[in-house]
Amino acid sequence: MRWVLLAVALIAGTIADRNIERPSVVHDGFRRLAVDLHVHPFPLSWSTLAPWDIVLEARRQGLDAVAIAGHNHVWVGQAGRWFSRLVGGPTVISSEEIHPPVGHVVALGIERTVDWDQPSEAMIDAVHRQGGVAVAAHPTRSSWMRWPDAAVRQLDGSEVLQPVTILSKDAGLEMRSFHERAGGAAIGSSDYHGLGPIGLCRTYVLARDNSEAAILDAIRAGRTEPAGPEPPVQAGVLVWVSRICGVLWLLFTVLWPGSRRDSTPRRS
Ligand SMILES: [Zn+2]
Ligand SMILES: [Zn+2]
Repeated sequence: MRWVLLAVALIAGTIADRNIERPSVVHDGFRRLAVDLHVHPFPLSWSTLAPWDIVLEARRQGLDAVAIAGHNHVWVGQAGRWFSRLVGGPTVISSEEIHPPVGHVVALGIERTVDWDQPSEAMIDAVHRQGGVAVAAHPTRSSWMRWPDAAVRQLDGSEVLQPVTILSKDAGLEMRSFHERAGGAAIGSSDYHGLGPIGLCRTYVLARDNSEAAILDAIRAGRTEPAGPEPPVQAGVLVWVSRICGVLWLLFTVLWPGSRRDSTPRRS
């Protein structure tokens, strides 16, 4: 029985699955790109998708670029960028979420890990020295003590839309309030940790082209528009049939593994 459920889940899910096709939009000579600037990879960042899976999933979600950010490291993002170039995109921005106990920073477009154990000003300086862009990650009130005025002035932008703002209206107000204080680019990101989808919250940027450098320039210039939550790519009856059958298959397999033992031949 459970194998029928698995087969139905796979077939229905495969039929319902499709890539998003977004028309190319041009404004004043700039391309309007959909980017997710805060996505965590497996391993070492509490996520489930390997960097190459993130590249394929970002393409499936219709994104032009994705920032793959390790917690306090950059090498997994660089692996994702290597794979992205191999398969023709989307653009991967090598990134790090600098992750002290409070006051996280998404460092976009860097090649070397920035140490988290230093004052915010020094941290952001280290990002800028590499030609990177520093964005305050989910700056809710609980992290504000990490942000003296001198550090706030150095930021290139801050997140105003995030899954946390979908879950908590107060968090959304606090992040908007922080952005009014900080100025710079307004950013929407999924802060993807394995529970999708990538691009749920995202940023539309007006960039010269879809290169890493052009996207970073657009953020520095504040040509950003946060958006989200985006409607799911996959919707409809077949998607729900696939999900329900998949979950039932999992439950049968985990809760009643005995039926599998029953089906194996006994040794005499
Ligand atoms: Zn964080
Ligand atoms: Zn994060």
